[in-house]
Amino acid sequence: MLERHFAVDLITQHHLGKIVKRHLTDIECYGAYVLNLESKQVIKILSKTTLLASGGAGQLYSTTTNPPIATGDGIAMVYRAKGIIENLEFVQFHPTSLFNPGETPSFLISEAMRGYGGILKNQLGEKFMNKYDERGSLAPRDIVARAIDNEMKIHGHDFVYLDMTHLEEKALKEHFPNITEKCKSLGIDVAKEMIPVVPAAHYICGGIKVDMNAQTWIKRLYAVGEVSSTGLHGANRLASNSLIEAIVFADRAVKHAVEHASEYQFAATIPGWDDSGTTHPEEMVLITQNLKEVKQIMSNYVGIVRSDLRLERATARLEIIYRETETLYRKSRVSLRICQLRNLINVGYLVIKMAQARKESRGLHYNLDYPRRIENK
Ligand SMILES: Cc1cc2nc3c(=O)[nH]c(=O)nc-3n(C[C@H](O)[C@H](O)[C@H](O)COP(=O)(O)OP(=O)(O)OC[C@H]3O[C@@H](n4cnc5c(N)ncnc54)[C@H](O)[C@@H]3O)c2cc1C
Repeated sequence: MLERHFAVDLITQHHLGKIVKRHLTDIECYGAYVLNLESKQVIKILSKTTLLASGGAGQLYSTTTNPPIATGDGIAMVYRAKGIIENLEFVQFHPTSLFNPGETPSFLISEAMRGYGGILKNQLGEKFMNKYDERGSLAPRDIVARAIDNEMKIHGHDFVYLDMTHLEEKALKEHFPNITEKCKSLGIDVAKEMIPVVPAAHYICGGIKVDMNAQTWIKRLYAVGEVSSTGLHGANRLASNSLIEAIVFADRAVKHAVEHASEYQFAATIPGWDDSGTTHPEEMVLITQNLKEVKQIMSNYVGIVRSDLRLERATARLEIIYRETETLYRKSRVSLRICQLRNLINVGYLVIKMAQARKESRGLHYNLDYPRRIENK
């Protein structure tokens, strides 16, 4: 167990000087290059089998419930190693996170509040959900998130409200102690005032394509948890289903890896990390500004509602940041911040490409130019 270590890249035949192409079935993973965040040195860790469990990519967006580590590292590493990534266009937005600019990750206002009787209202005080779905505030996550997004866009507002004020105060505090406390800390008494809420990026259904034993398309490499794409969520994840990818697939992966470990040898001649010719980046502002821009591009053009024009614009904008960041990466000594930025750009690029390839609206992917779902033949 190595704490304060950050995986930078997977080691494959590429590091033995061989040409590795995507979709080939003979790519093998021999371990990873890992950055020690204390000593700032990159070390080589060799393995018979490797398992990625690096979580999601919510940090692609300005508003997210995900922790700061959710920068899509595993997905980006596998993409760079020429493995197969799929279904990234299916990004789930939680409809109601607390609107509190600057707080990251955003605080989740549980859907149980709507289940308990909470009603969504726009800033004009109008109940709007029934315009979008007969189930009103109890409609599924994707429908509610899209409706809120639309209300915010048509009125030019930054948030809508969740109204709990018609419910009994004592019961509210008993059922939702954390939420009532959190709101109170911001001066909002949920029994008397409406809660300002906004959708937030919450879960990425796609990721590294795996089989039923969590094996990726790169040999000796497994992926479990949110980083993987098992297909179990289809195009629209149900709440609480992440346990399947995290626990069931982890169990299967480990059993499979143990069974097959004796078939593999440690790779012998893997070179160490080469950082010759690099220096510490002097201008941290280049990284922080690019990160801010990536989040803005993804939130504005590749969020809950997309269109061909928005996706095209996102591609063009991201391309510039990609080129700048790659140049900086090649010149810089590896750091956590630049690696995470680079990974987010890689994953953002893939989300856009996969969204562009899907000429329909399905599940969590909604494109104004193709508002309908194409039925499978
Ligand atoms: C607020 C919130 C509420 C949720 N509620 C529910 C719920 O009620 N039910 C449910 O089923 N799901 C829920 N989810 C989703 C669920 O929590 C996640 O999908 C799940 O925790 C993902 O687990 P994981 O092990 O794949 O990744 P994580 O738990 O994110 O762990 C990833 C780990 O990898 C490490 N890591 C990342 N990159 C690197 C790197 N490059 N090098 C080294 N280490 C790295 C991270 O530091 C972290 O320790 C919720 C998510 C959020 C954010």
